Amino acid sequence: MPNEQQRIEELHALVRYIYRERLAEKIITAFDDSLAEKEDAGERRAIIEHWLDFYQAHKYRKMMRRRRATDQERMTACTACGYPISQRHHLWDIATHGENAVTVQLCPNCHELHHLMYNALARDSLYSQKLVRHVLDSGRLSVEAVTKIYGWLRAILTYEIENGWLESYKLSDLWIEEKLGWNEYVQRSQSSTP
Ligand SMILES: [Zn+2]
Ligand SMILES: [Zn+2]
Repeated sequence: MPNEQQRIEELHALVRYIYRERLAEKIITAFDDSLAEKEDAGERRAIIEHWLDFYQAHKYRKMMRRRRATDQERMTACTACGYPISQRHHLWDIATHGENAVTVQLCPNCHELHHLMYNALARDSLYSQKLVRHVLDSGRLSVEAVTKIYGWLRAILTYEIENGWLESYKLSDLWIEEKLGWNEYVQRSQSSTP
């Protein structure tokens, strides 16, 4: 079991992670002062553990919070189709990884298509499958754009399967063909281009 001093240092580190410097130092000083008045070891321990729990929950919420995209990011062209504004799509989802830098800039349409394709394959959503096929059948998006989106999708599915979060058959040719009609789509697009 860690000793009292180690737990106090953990608490200080948590507070410094959550709050800006000056506020963090104020909180730490107030905490240390109030703890100094307590002499009973059990009582001290209970207070320290209480605030460790409190700040750990706080840190978790902070990590899960999405950072707002900067205007610079919003004005980055869609990586798939080139539309002049885009959104940040987290390849590593926030719920599992918290706010992170593994993102790709996608315009609203490509972004939605990515999520629909993911849900069709990973969640076996019939609703998403129908919408994806509707987009693919429309021929409104270039094969190059859709292929890029499909590439990120494969990469993220591979990653999730390697970590044991997803069944491996969800990346099999059979499954992808059944859900998205992918090869069919690629062949159809190739034969229609002059
Ligand atoms: Zn796009
Ligand atoms: Zn997204």
